[in-house]
Amino acid sequence: MAENTQATRILIAGAGIAGLATAVALARVSDLPNIDVQLYEQASELLEIGASIALSPNGMRTLEKLGVDNALTDETGFRSASGIPQIFRHWKTNQVISVDTHINVPDPRHHTTRFHRGHIHSALLEHVPKESIHLGKKLIRAEATDAGVSLFFEDGTSAHGDILIGADGIKSKVRQSFIPEYKLRFGGRVFMRATFNAALVEGKIPDLPADSMHWWGPNDNFFASKLGKNQYTTVGAYSDPRSSEEIENSVAWDQKGDVTFLRERYKGWNPVVRALTEATPYTNLYPNFTGDRLRTWVFGSRVTLIGDAAHAHGGAFAAGGSLALDDAFALGLAFRHVGGISSPEKIESALKLYESVRQTHTDRLLRVVHGLLDTSKKAPAAKSAEEEDARLIERLRSRPATEWLSEYDVEREFAHVVKESEGGEKQESYAGTSPVSGLQVPASKL
Ligand SMILES: Cc1cc2nc3c(=O)[nH]c(=O)nc-3n(C[C@H](O)[C@H](O)[C@H](O)COP(=O)(O)OP(=O)(O)OC[C@H]3O[C@@H](n4cnc5c(N)ncnc54)[C@H](O)[C@@H]3O)c2cc1C
Repeated sequence: MAENTQATRILIAGAGIAGLATAVALARVSDLPNIDVQLYEQASELLEIGASIALSPNGMRTLEKLGVDNALTDETGFRSASGIPQIFRHWKTNQVISVDTHINVPDPRHHTTRFHRGHIHSALLEHVPKESIHLGKKLIRAEATDAGVSLFFEDGTSAHGDILIGADGIKSKVRQSFIPEYKLRFGGRVFMRATFNAALVEGKIPDLPADSMHWWGPNDNFFASKLGKNQYTTVGAYSDPRSSEEIENSVAWDQKGDVTFLRERYKGWNPVVRALTEATPYTNLYPNFTGDRLRTWVFGSRVTLIGDAAHAHGGAFAAGGSLALDDAFALGLAFRHVGGISSPEKIESALKLYESVRQTHTDRLLRVVHGLLDTSKKAPAAKSAEEEDARLIERLRSRPATEWLSEYDVEREFAHVVKESEGGEKQESYAGTSPVSGLQVPASKL
């Protein structure tokens, strides 16, 4: 890496939300002069899977700060007219049991927004030079030395550069290259997802709510929502008792499901859910995997992870897309703060600063996720249908507060971490908001 003459080459493995947002943040936030950013994606075409994604206010604000204004339009994404981000109903009675509200989101464009994944992906793609994206490059291994980084692909080719950012999702090969023993675990649920034209349900299902809706049952859940560009989504989440190995061997990510299984599974539910399952034309399957926190996100002086590769929280709280955007923004801020990447030491200090801004926050999410999945804490089976119903209602009403996640302010957290690291006045970390009550508690006490 010759200073001021040759561009610093930054390799990004994966062109999902995290990879694309990182490319945008490097170009617009980092202030790094003379960088050459290249993305390597396994897919041969940039067609996102046909599923929906919700972005919370933190993600929507970050999209705006990244200059991805095209994702904020009312056409691209769907926002409930009521301004209520989440409404939870009883599976059988269809009664509203609990709602989430936005606490401090004055701009309606930042309200929780639901997209077809392909649309948010395309919105980001408009901001990344096409010639920097290399398709059909399935990574099998990454390497790093003090002098540089390398990626090796299934097709026998390789790429070399100065910095590597692993944005290759929950099953990251970059992560595996540096932590070979890391394992994911099946979280006990399989999601059956579909997206289709809203005309299949709107005006056809009596009492279909205009808002996005979660219905919770004793074991299974169902979600339905309008999306941007007149699309609609249904998502059935069912408990599957199989082991991680059995699921790994029998259900592939994005595998075609059986829509008659969906209809059968929800046949005892309220008429709106039943009608939605009847109107759903197909399902694809997504088993939900999670993994433990990583001790570090920085390997040597030149490699880091971002998005699901860094924090394997699965589909929890529909937070992953927004977290990936905030990760990317924080990485851009870290490079800007360090001011130049003329030596391995400077690169490492930027990567470490990024890690210290983000990891406290995502570790906290992982603690909540693994706490909820801990089967040793499960109550014994209910003795009657009434008891089971009372427990369900209690669970719905005592859901963990999530504003600490959905209204997180990455710039504020960045400023806080920098101030603390420079020995400034101690402040409360934004990352230290209690997961249960929403009260502010210092991060050190969590
Ligand atoms: C069932 C489920 C539901 C979810 N629902 C929501 C939701 O509603 N809202 C939300 O915000 N989040 C949701 N998430 C999480 C969200 O999808 C992710 O957190 C988010 O997409 C993170 O993006 P990413 O770029 O890190 O990973 P990904 O979106 O997985 O992108 C990784 C990219 O890397 C590529 N790649 C992978 N391996 C290789 C390789 N070996 N070589 C080259 N390229 C590779 C992939 O093709 C992909 O393009 C959900 C997750 C699950 C599992």
